[in-house]
Amino acid sequence: MVSRSVMLGFPRKCVSDPVISDLVKGCGIEVNILRARIDPSEEGRMLARLRGPEEVIENGLSMLRERGVEISYPESSFIWQEARCVHCGACAGICPSGAFTICPETFMVGFDMSGCILCDLCIEVCYYGAIQSVEDYIGGCRK
Ligand code: SF4
Ligand code: SF4
Repeated sequence: MVSRSVMLGFPRKCVSDPVISDLVKGCGIEVNILRARIDPSEEGRMLARLRGPEEVIENGLSMLRERGVEISYPESSFIWQEARCVHCGACAGICPSGAFTICPETFMVGFDMSGCILCDLCIEVCYYGAIQSVEDYIGGCRK
């Protein structure tokens, strides 16, 4: 089993196509919708975490592409800029998923994107601008 965060873009022609239902029922992929903005008369965007066997997820993503859904990966737009980080630990203290952690031996902060649920809490507490958000990609909407 693997878990992957994906950003799905739904062109206008796709918003009424039940692709997410087919991803769950047809492919057997667990879909956890983290954020979404879908309007039947406009384009839509969705940030989701997919969970399942790697090959099954790849097949599911291929199915989405064939049906016109645009796929990108938030890892490319959610970046911990370690060079700016002073390892104050504020992000690790507030992170609900354990994606940001503090090494008990070195007291250095570490980041594991695979555990991140993109709640943005760490961005709010980081006074050093060391964490970049995906907010622009989804138009500022919240789940
Ligand atoms: S809050 Fe910012 S500066 Fe502090 S440890 Fe986290 S990323 Fe680094
Ligand atoms: S966005 Fe939320 S879950 Fe992700 S690292 Fe920051 S606080 Fe943790």
